[in-house]
Amino acid sequence: MTKNVSELFGAMVFNDDVMRERLPKEIYKSLAKTVATGRTIDPSIADVVANAMKDWAVEKGATHYTHWFQPLTGVTAEKHDAFISPVGACKVVMEFSGKELIRGESDASSFPSGGLRATFEARGYTAWDPASYAFVKDGTLYIPTAFCSYTGEALDSKTPLLRSMDALNTQALRILRLFGDTVTRHVDITVGAEQEYFIIDKAMYDRRKDLVYTGRTLFGAPAPKGQELEDHYFGPLKTRIAAFMADLDEALWKMGINAKTKHNEAAPAQHELAPIYATVNIATDQNLLTMEYMKKIAEKHGLVCLLHEKPYDGVNGSGKHNNWSLTANGKNLLDPGKTPEENIQFLLILAAIVKAVDDYQDLMRISVAHAGNDHRLGANEAPPAIVSIFVGEELDAVIRAIMSGTSYHGTKAPMMDLGIPTVPVFRKDTTDRNRTSPFAFTGNKFEFRMVGSSQNIAMPNTVLNTAVAESFRQFADVLEGAINFDVAVAKLIKDTFVAHHRILFDGNGYSEEWEREAARRGLLNLRTSVDAYNAFTDPKNVKLFSSLGVMSEAEMRSREEIYFENYSKIVNIEAQTMIVMASRDYIPAVETYIAQIADTAAKKTAVCPDASCAVEKDIIRRLSELNATAYGAVERLRQAETDAASIENARGRAECYCSRVLPIMAELRAAVDQMETLTASKCWPVPTYGDMMFRV
Ligand code: ADP
Ligand code: MG
Repeated sequence: MTKNVSELFGAMVFNDDVMRERLPKEIYKSLAKTVATGRTIDPSIADVVANAMKDWAVEKGATHYTHWFQPLTGVTAEKHDAFISPVGACKVVMEFSGKELIRGESDASSFPSGGLRATFEARGYTAWDPASYAFVKDGTLYIPTAFCSYTGEALDSKTPLLRSMDALNTQALRILRLFGDTVTRHVDITVGAEQEYFIIDKAMYDRRKDLVYTGRTLFGAPAPKGQELEDHYFGPLKTRIAAFMADLDEALWKMGINAKTKHNEAAPAQHELAPIYATVNIATDQNLLTMEYMKKIAEKHGLVCLLHEKPYDGVNGSGKHNNWSLTANGKNLLDPGKTPEENIQFLLILAAIVKAVDDYQDLMRISVAHAGNDHRLGANEAPPAIVSIFVGEELDAVIRAIMSGTSYHGTKAPMMDLGIPTVPVFRKDTTDRNRTSPFAFTGNKFEFRMVGSSQNIAMPNTVLNTAVAESFRQFADVLEGAINFDVAVAKLIKDTFVAHHRILFDGNGYSEEWEREAARRGLLNLRTSVDAYNAFTDPKNVKLFSSLGVMSEAEMRSREEIYFENYSKIVNIEAQTMIVMASRDYIPAVETYIAQIADTAAKKTAVCPDASCAVEKDIIRRLSELNATAYGAVERLRQAETDAASIENARGRAECYCSRVLPIMAELRAAVDQMETLTASKCWPVPTYGDMMFRV
C-alpha cells in the first residue's frame, strides 16, 4: 500500500496554504500579520475567516465545531456545536460566525480553578489562538483556544505559555538590537518534544484494574528478564507494533504533525516518537494531539498505549525530551556559529540560559512535578530531581577560560581584545550523550529531559521562556546603559558564569556522589512533587511571573492549589485501587491456593501417612504470614487514606498522602509481590510483568 505522503500531509489542517488559497488577499494579509506579531485579531475580518473555515471544514466532512482548550486537568477539553442554523420550519443551513470563532463561552465550574472560581464567576471563556492552526478531526472543526475566567484569569496551560512567548520575544529583541540587529521583528521559540510510551495488549490491560484506574501497575513482581540485555533499544519492530506505528504516522501527518522518528526504547514494550520541531505553542498542541492519537490508534490494533511516567517498576520510565531553541530570521540563536561577533552574542545567550536555570531551579523542577513523574525521576535512566546543566566538554572549557580570564587552548583561534576566547567552530558530536543530565546542550538546542511522558509541555516551556526572558531583561538593562558596550558585555558574560557555574555538571547525574556534590554546591534537591510545589509561590517566583506579565499572583495561587489537589487525588485513587485489588483479588487468591495445598497435603497423608508434607507446610506457612502482612497493610492503608482525605487544607492533605499513604502502599506492594513469586501461576488473578511486557 503506497501512500502519497506529501498529498496527505496536513490535509486536515486549515494551515497557511489553505488560508492563502481561500481567504481574500487583504484578509489573509491582515490575519498573517496578526499571527506574526502576536496582536489581537481585527474583529471585522473574523466573519470572513470563520466562513472560509466552515466551508473548508464542511468539505472535509465536518458537521460541528469546537473550541479546543487545555484546562488544568492536564488533558484537553472540547464541547461540540453543530454548524446548523434553522431557516424556516424544517430547513437548516450551515453557519459559523466570526463571533463564534473568536470567543466561546463555557461553564467553567467543573474544571479545576484553584479558588479562582470561588471569587469570580463560574463562567469561563475560550479565546481563539490564531497562531495555532484549526483542524478537522472526526467530523468536527477544532479551534485551538485559550481558556480564562470571566475576569480574564487564565484557567488553562496555554494562556501563560502564550504570554511567556511574548515576554521572551520582547526581551530577546532588546538583546538582538544591542548587537546591531535591526531587522528581526520576532524571535521564534522552537520546540521538539520526543514522546516515549509503552504498548500493552488490550486484553491484558483490561484484566489489570491498576492500569485501568491509574495508568500504572501498583503491584507486580519483576519478570525474569528486564532490560538488562539491552536488546529492545532500537531493536526491530514487532509486526503488530510496526502496523500501529504506520497508522499513527499517517494519522499525524494528516493533522500536519511532522512525525519523523520512531523506534523501540530501552524497556521491553517501550517506544518513542519524535516530531520535527515547531513553534512552541504549535508544538504543544501537536504533542497533545499526538498523545491522543497514540491512545486512539492503539485501540484499533487491540492495544493500549500507556503514557504514564512509570507503568512498570524496575525498568525505564517514560519521559518527554523537550528540545528548546530560539530562532531569529531563520537563524538558530543557539548555534555557536563561526565568527567572533556571533560568538559573543551566543556566549551572552548561553550565559542568560545558565543564569535562568540556576536562578529558577525550583520552577524548572516544579514544572515537571507530577505524582507520576516522582516514580521516574532519579530511577532507572531518568534524570534525578536535582536540576543541573550539561554543556559538553568544548563549551565547558570555553566557560572555564572565560571565568579565569585565560585563553582557551582547544582552538587555534586567537584571543580577542576583550579577553573572550572565541568559540571554536563547533563539532556537534562533542556535545552530547550525557544521558544523565536533566538539561543538556545538544549542539544547537537545549534538551530538558525531566518532563514526564504524560505531561503537557506548556508549563515547562512557560518556565523556561520566562526565566530566560528575565535574564535577558537584566542583561539588556545593564548593556543598554553601558558606555563601552564591548567591555560591558565581556564583563557581564564573565560575571554571569562566575556567579552561576555551580549549575554546570558534566558527570554522572545518576550517582550518589552527585547528590552529595550538589548539596555541597547548594543546589536544590526537591525530591517529591510536594516538596517542589511548596516552592512555587516563593516571593522571587511570584515576582518573576508577575513582573513579566506571565501569571498574576492570584493565578499562581490558584495553580498551587490545583497542584496539591491533583497530587492528592492521584495518590488517593492509587490507594483505593490497591485496597480493592488486595482485598478482593490477591488476598482471596492466596487463600484459595493455600486451601488447595492444604487439601493436597491432607489427601497425601491419607493415602501415604509417611510421605513428606514439608513443601506444603513451608509454602502454607510463608504465604499465610505474607497474607497476614498484606491484610494488615490494607487496614492501615484504609486508615491513613481516611485520615489524609479528611485534612481540609490542600497542602497539608498532599503532604499527608506523600509522607504517610505512599509508604504503606509500598509495604502492601512488597508483601503482594512476594506472594506472587510463591503462588502457582494458574491461581494468580492478573497478568504478570512478564505477560504484559513480553507478550505484545
Ligand atoms: P537526538 O536528540 O536523538 O540527537 P535530534 O537532535 O535530531 O535527535 O532531535 C531531537 C528533537 O529535537 C527533534 O524533535 C528535533 O526536531 C528537535 N530539534 C532539532 N533542532 C531543534 C531546534 N532548533 N529547536 C527545537 N527543537 C529542535
Ligand atoms: Mg534527544
